[in-house]
Amino acid sequence: MIGPYERCARSFIPALASTLFLASTVPLGCDGGSGDGGHDLSPWVQNDVGQAGGDTAQPDVGESDQPGPVETQEPDLGDFVVEYELPQSPKLQDLASGIRDSGYPDALAEFLNTQLALPRDLPLVFAQCDKVNAYYAGEDKRITICWEMLVDIAQAFADHDWTDESGSVGTLALYAWTWVIFHEVGHALVDYYQLPITGKEEDAVDDFSTLLLILDDSAEAAVHAAVYFRFQDNGEHPPSALANEHGLHLQRFYNIMCIVYGSAPAEYGYFETQFPEMEDRLPRCEGEYVQKLKSWATLLAPWAK
Ligand SMILES: [Zn+2]
Repeated sequence: MIGPYERCARSFIPALASTLFLASTVPLGCDGGSGDGGHDLSPWVQNDVGQAGGDTAQPDVGESDQPGPVETQEPDLGDFVVEYELPQSPKLQDLASGIRDSGYPDALAEFLNTQLALPRDLPLVFAQCDKVNAYYAGEDKRITICWEMLVDIAQAFADHDWTDESGSVGTLALYAWTWVIFHEVGHALVDYYQLPITGKEEDAVDDFSTLLLILDDSAEAAVHAAVYFRFQDNGEHPPSALANEHGLHLQRFYNIMCIVYGSAPAEYGYFETQFPEMEDRLPRCEGEYVQKLKSWATLLAPWAK
């Protein structure tokens, strides 16, 4: 059922929650630690952003990796703010109440507020939408995360027997959902900061979300999002899919997995046997990771805390 790329995930799933809830600086990588020391949760200003990239990996994005307050070049005039629109559906009400009471969305917002200055508040609105969706609306300057999105992820995982040791899909779905939220945050930042983007913005913010999770020692959360895309692929690629602003599900799967692999090729060496179709891609993934991290770090540097 599940490929060996679950191997890390099994031991890794608590990492994001631990990091967010406890503000831990303990390395929480695969097998209990990535071996490169703890991150200070300031990914965009760390000198070690290029650690995987050999002699090309020296992005000029910060002065120090010492913890402590960091003055941002741009003024910090806003916060990520969580808002709840409690759903009409009784089923969704239970889900929404559980997530709200867990404090998880608030922890995500708090995490983001420790990382990035904003020119104005950015609402993260959790709502019933009557469709599977998550989106940033530029005209409203707000992100909407539909409860149906989390339900759909959980259903996809259940359909494919993708569960944790306890047989539950909930935690794994939560982490794929987190990647979706960070993807939408990427869209919002492109607008709020008026970031220049070449190529498809959808690809760029896929990269943003994946990189943010990797730098938070939560790469396996991105892996679960990739798995969700893989589960959605039905092998049919009609013109409407090819014309879509998003990449094909499988392309998004491979792009995420490439960045994850590129962040630590030795740690994810088993991708080489698990995904033989990536034979030509994987050797270039370390370079892709460094390039994308350097690019985002450069774009976000004025706003990085
Ligand atoms: Zn998008």
